[in-house]
Amino acid sequence: MASHATVRHYLACWFQAGKGVVYGQEIWRPQVVTQAGQYSPEFNALWQEMEQRGLQHFYLAGTEVSLAQLCSDAWDIATCSRCTMPVPIKVAGIMTEPCPCADLDLWPNLELPLPHGAVDSQAHLTQVQARLHQ
Ligand SMILES: [Zn+2]
Repeated sequence: MASHATVRHYLACWFQAGKGVVYGQEIWRPQVVTQAGQYSPEFNALWQEMEQRGLQHFYLAGTEVSLAQLCSDAWDIATCSRCTMPVPIKVAGIMTEPCPCADLDLWPNLELPLPHGAVDSQAHLTQVQARLHQ
């Protein structure tokens, strides 16, 4: 079961690699994914919009696993053995779908920094505070 934070990280990485999320006939992708180490306002707005419409309606282009399924007990997010990107994996199973990177030419490009998520400084602060209270 992937947490919402993990699913956001998964999307952020693939948005930066040029993938979008499929919603019916539409493909959604923010222009700017991260800003100064945080998720961009555009990314956060897009996530909120997806949550409001229901994560079961959205899935990463090139996969057939909805974002809601990723948050269910049956699925988790692991690391692609080819490009180290986050990929859906069935819990207690093996990966049967190819990584979404399969149709990207010139991928992985090890000359460039790999896509990454945001540093969640709020969660870090909460951890520090929890430690101080102990
Ligand atoms: Zn891959």
